[in-house]
Amino acid sequence: MGKGHGGWTEDPREALRVRPGFSLDEFDRGAKPGFHGKKSDGKALGKDRGALLSELQERLFAEGRIGGKRSVLCVVQGLDTAGKGGVTRHVMSMVDPQGVALHSFGPPTEEELEHHFLWRIRGALPRPGLIGVFDRSHYEDVLVVRVDDLAPRNVWERRYDEINGFEKDLVDSGTIVLKFALMVSKDEQGVRLMDRLDRPDKRWKFSRNDVRTRGRWDAYQQAYQAVFERTSTDWAPWYVIPADHKWYSRTAITEILTQTMIDMDLGWPEPDWDPFGMREELAVEMSSRALKTSLSDTVDNVESAIAEDAAVQREEVAVQVEDGDIDDAPARAEERATLAEVKAQRAERLAELMRTRQQKERLVEQARARETHGRGGE
Ligand code: AMP
Ligand code: MG
Repeated sequence: MGKGHGGWTEDPREALRVRPGFSLDEFDRGAKPGFHGKKSDGKALGKDRGALLSELQERLFAEGRIGGKRSVLCVVQGLDTAGKGGVTRHVMSMVDPQGVALHSFGPPTEEELEHHFLWRIRGALPRPGLIGVFDRSHYEDVLVVRVDDLAPRNVWERRYDEINGFEKDLVDSGTIVLKFALMVSKDEQGVRLMDRLDRPDKRWKFSRNDVRTRGRWDAYQQAYQAVFERTSTDWAPWYVIPADHKWYSRTAITEILTQTMIDMDLGWPEPDWDPFGMREELAVEMSSRALKTSLSDTVDNVESAIAEDAAVQREEVAVQVEDGDIDDAPARAEERATLAEVKAQRAERLAELMRTRQQKERLVEQARARETHGRGGE
């Protein structure tokens, strides 16, 4: 996030989080809170984050594989054309497809209507190790349901508390809940809906209902205001994202997700077996030729593992430095401590690399001896 170029001047989690007294009426949907720079800066930054996010996602996935309980759920809300689909596709394109689970929520089916409104949501929650993405969510049950009178007031009124309790349980069981509301201006939405009508390749995204929904604009704004006031909690806050600039909303969501996952302090799981012992066992059935190939790969393998790892660590340092004031002594001490940790870890890995090479050289020799004896006839 180079100095002098565009970038985040404030953690977007701070810049976009709903605070007491938040007013949607006064919210500028064309603004770029916390970001300094133009579209190309935002896009470049987003790309940069891709590699890091992908590694963090893999770590989360690995943790889930060995019995970890953690997962991340991104709830994406917004009116038609706000960019929900674009954001979800964008986030998903940056990580391994097997590590994300997307669910879109439309009008409930008959079966779903027979159950509690959270029933279909519970069935779609991300398993441990996954990043779940909801394109619309349980919040529709206090948005469209409230605006269109699909349930009596006393029913939807109690849902706010039910949602808070539900999300609290979710967080307590190890899921980090990130809630993004994409807020587009009425003018911009008009333009985007017109675009959908103009373009034969976009008409499929248009529904007759969109014009009717737009007609209830003010009621939706009020319903969203109530959502922010009543369901932005310490455990699952809302991030309200200005969505008139699509690049901004994508960059912001990518950054919030990345920062959140950095804070999860995801390591690589430690195996319950010893690689040195396992190498001996594996080598028994390997030719000296194959072992030599493996020996020559060793340095590259380990060094790229270190480099990739270091990249994550460096990012962490960069983030901490930018988070705090650079002249702030505690922040700098922390930065130095992290750097020292990176160095120590690197030294440890290099020492292991030396021992691995020695072991492999010995294994090549042993295989050679075995092969010579074999040819000698037994
Ligand atoms: P879209 O996301 O544009 O494909 O549209 C999905 C539609 O499903 C929107 O019009 C939502 O308002 C509607 N929808 C989603 N959840 C609910 C719900 N719980 N009750 C009623 N309508 C819903
Ligand atoms: Mg739609």
